Order: sequence, then structure tokens, then C-alpha cells
Amino acid sequence: MAQYDVDLFVIGGGSGGVRAARIAAGYGARVMVAEEYRMGGTCVIRGCVPKKLFVIGSHVHDEIADAAGFGWSIGQVSFDWATLVANKDKEIARLERAYTTNVEKSGATVVKTRAVLEDAHTLRLATGEKVTAKYILIATGGAPNHGPIVPGIEHVISSNEAFHLKELPKRIVIQGGGYIALEFAGIFAGYGSDVTVIYRGDNILRGFDDDVRKHVRAEMEKRGITIITGCTVAKIDKHGRDFTTHLSSGSSIASDQVMFAIGRHPNVANLGLETAGVAINPANGGVQVDGWSKTSVDNIYAVGDVTHRTNLTPVAIREGHAFADTVFGKRPVEVDHATIPTAVFSQPEVGTVGLTEEEARAQFSHVDIYKTDFRPIKATMSGRDTRVLMKLVVDGTSDRVLGCHIVGDSAAETIQAVAIAVKMKATKADFDATIALHPTAAEELVTMRTPTARHVRQAAE
Ligand code: FAD
Ligand code: NDP
Repeated sequence: MAQYDVDLFVIGGGSGGVRAARIAAGYGARVMVAEEYRMGGTCVIRGCVPKKLFVIGSHVHDEIADAAGFGWSIGQVSFDWATLVANKDKEIARLERAYTTNVEKSGATVVKTRAVLEDAHTLRLATGEKVTAKYILIATGGAPNHGPIVPGIEHVISSNEAFHLKELPKRIVIQGGGYIALEFAGIFAGYGSDVTVIYRGDNILRGFDDDVRKHVRAEMEKRGITIITGCTVAKIDKHGRDFTTHLSSGSSIASDQVMFAIGRHPNVANLGLETAGVAINPANGGVQVDGWSKTSVDNIYAVGDVTHRTNLTPVAIREGHAFADTVFGKRPVEVDHATIPTAVFSQPEVGTVGLTEEEARAQFSHVDIYKTDFRPIKATMSGRDTRVLMKLVVDGTSDRVLGCHIVGDSAAETIQAVAIAVKMKATKADFDATIALHPTAAEELVTMRTPTARHVRQAAE
């Protein structure tokens, strides 16, 4: 008789957990996956996918506005938020079913319940059952931060609720200057809301290249989004259906909704981690893991947002896959977290891979910058006041392209392809040797001949 009920118990049916379960089952492991909410996890249910659907829909506003310059007269148009939400919900329900079916088809069992650790080999399900497992994978993801607790915090929504609002807010205040705040600012503005972004620092998108940050801010402001920096939300008052948001600067803003998008925390609470002996990483509050995603307990692993490394879906998937290869495929695979491309689906979109100029200048003695910002061809006829930014950061010594940063239409699509070249350590000469594809915006990446800046750090005497 087998010593354990299953070979692998996965806690969490999101991006990382589902991939790990399917691959492990493919290697012949007996796998059980517990999901307490909806199969698919954050990305599918209330993250990447519904967000992208909302973004795509909100672009129609610009398409309509831009059409006149191309000869179109579009009559009275109207938009129905309830239809958008209902159709999105239908698609998400379809994906949720597909995720469940695919896991089951792989041979794994799905249990729709919460699971917590009782000890290093025992799980307790919310149904009261206990399951023993040879290996356990913690893939419980993360959740929106609500703090700091300010008076009126109970009125504030997070991205979770933003996907299910009954009505499109006429006015919305969004606190935060990162991915979610800017993506939702663009979404709401596209559908017609009056949007104010409140950010505590001096400019949005901290951690991105400074030129990107300036460019995105300027472009968002041109689209009518108000961005207030250098302050925070101090208090929210509710009067009937309206809110007044009081800022630390002393001013206040009236709105129909207030949203916080101030980061996410790993789902580590009440999981039984202490009883099982699983250590938390003091640096980030996530489950502490090594390069193979192994925790402080030999048979317990953790992948995805719960480890708070790089909180992106493809990273969680790669970590889940590598775990299954390592433990059940007898092929140790360590995930390379360097040079991960990322996009912010703000409007305009940001696509970025590799080092920012600031990071490159800290690490390399010679850094060449190739930068251009230009009016995209569409704007010449639409009349839209908008510019695209393209920037390459190059190691002046080896000629290697260290980073690429794009702001503009299809930046995410473009950067995915550029990321292959950057990951392969392509040089600027490789970019130059590639013949341009005309007329595109991306051709600028292979036609920028002269550095716009050259930074040489003098060796210490
Ligand atoms: P999750 O997908 O969060 O899955 C964890 C699952 O575990 C959840 O379903 C949860 O219900 C379940 N669970 C938790 N505890 C238990 C328990 N005790 N028992 C049973 N089940 C449990 N990333 C991108 O790459 N691109 C994007 O465009 C993008 N957009 C995003 C937009 C938003 C609004 C948000 C919030 C996130 C976005 N992300 C995006 C990030 C992405 O969603 C996450 O990085 C990804 O989902 C992490 O996968 P995971 O498997 O670690 O966790
Ligand atoms: P981010 O970390 O991207 O941004 C959080 C923002 O909130 C920052 O501007 C931060 O400011 C600010 N902030 C943090 N704490 C406070 C506070 N106490 N008071 C006021 N402001 C505060 O987190 P998000 O919530 O936007 O998204 C979470 C993660 O989900 C992302 O980091 C990303 O990994 C993932 N994601 C990815 C997407 C994609 O790939 N397109 C889309 C959405 C999410 P400061 O910079 O000063 O710290």
C-alpha cells in the first residue's frame, strides 16, 4: 500500500499550481489540486485576462475618435458597461471550465475547497477530510493590499471589485502608481470616466526607466487623466452615493468610486506554515524558497506570487513547470529570473525588457543610449496629439543590448519579440544588421544609428 494518499498535493489552482499539477501528472504522479475560489486563479478570474478584455474594449473610444481623419463619420455611439461585464463574465466562466477540464484530463484530481497544512505531509481540507502527500506545492498566490488603514477605508475597492461594478463610475479616484492603478486608469478613462490618479512619489511607475515614466505620465495627462503626485489618500467620506477623498496635501476630490491599487501581498496567512515548519522570507513576506522553489522543508515547494519574487503569470507558470520537472521528471530545472519582459497595459502601453538606463549606468562603465520619440503614422491623419518612445540601452564596451523600453501602441507585442534578442545577448550591431520592416514603429529599433547619449564612468585614480 502506498505510504501517502497522493504523490503531490497542490494548494491553489492558479497559474503556477495548474501548470505544476498537469506536468507532474504527466510524469505519472498521483496529483490532487485544491482550489478554494475559482480554478484558473488570479490571472484568469480577476487579473490578466479580464483586465486585457477591459483594455481592448476601452480602446474603441480612441478608434472612434481617430476615425474622422480617415474619412469616417460615425454617428451617435453608446457604451453599455453591464454588457461588457456580462460578456467578460461569460468568457471567464468558459476559461474556468477549461482549466478544470485540462487539469482533470492530465489525470490530476481537483477538489473545490480550502486546504491548509497540518504537518509536513498532511493537508486538512475545509470539508474536514485529511489527505497525506509525499510532496506539497504551495501555490496560493497573493491578494490586494488594503493598508494603510485610513478613515473610510471600508468604502475603497480593489481590482477584485473593479471587475464587478454595477455601473461605470462617472468619476473615480485611484491611489497607486504601478501596474494596476495605471491599467485601470486607462480602462476607466477609455469608457468615459473622469479619472484622478494619486501617487505618493514624484513620478508613477517607480522602477521603470525614467524616460518611460515621464513619457507615460505626459501621454496619460494628454488623454485627460489627472495625475497628482507627492501625496496620499488620508481619508474618505461618503455622502449618499458620492465620496470625498481627502489628500495628505489638504485638497479633496469628489468621486463615485475610490480604488486602491497599492501592491499585493503573498497569501501566507492561516495556511499552517508555522506548524509545518515552512519559513517566511523576512525580506519580502513571501514563502522562502531556493533556486528550485524548495522551501525550508524538504518535501514542500512554493511557486508563483506566494513567493513574492516576480509576480507575473508566465513566471508562476515557468516556476510550476520547473518544480514538476525537478521533482517528478528527474530533471533539475532552475528558473532564470533575469531579463523577464514585462508590459503595463496602460494607455499608452509600456513594454520593457532588461536594464533601465539607471541600472545599466550603475553596473557598466560605458553605456550608450539610443532614444527616439516620434509621432506615429496613424496620428498624422487622426490628428491625435501623441508620441511613441523607443529606447535602447547598450553596453558601450561589448556592444550588447542591455535593455529595451517602448511606450506606444503594441509595445507589449513588440517587446515580446525583442526579449528573445536581448535574452540571446544580441549586440547593437545585430540590431543594425537586421533590415527594417517598413512602415512600422518598431523599425526605429533597428535604424537608430547614433547614440543620443554616451555615459563613460572614469576609473578611480
Ligand atoms: P494565483 O493565480 O493567484 O492562484 C492562487 C490560487 O490559490 C487562487 O485561485 C486562490 O483562490 C487559491 N488559494 C489560495 N489559498 C488557498 C488555499 N488555502 N486552499 C485552496 N486554494 C487556495 N500578470 C501578468 O503576467 N500579466 C498581466 O497582464 C497581469 N495582469 C494582472 C492584473 C491584475 C488586476 C492582477 C491582480 C494581477 C495581474 N497579473 C498579471 C499577475 C498575475 O495574475 C499573477 O502573477 C499570477 O496569477 C500568479 O499566479 P499564482 O499561481 O502564483 O497565483
Ligand atoms: P505595484 O507594485 O505595481 O504598484 C503599487 C503602487 O502602489 C506603487 O505605485 C506604490 O508606490 C504604491 N504604494 C504602495 N504602498 C503604498 C501605500 N502604503 N500608500 C500609497 N501608495 C502605495 O502593485 P499593483 O498593485 O499595481 O500590482 C501588483 C502586482 O501585480 C504588480 O507588481 C505586478 O507584479 C502584477 N501585475 C502585473 C500586471 C502586468 O503584467 N501587466 C498587471 C497588474 C498587476 P511606490 O512605487 O512608491 O512603492
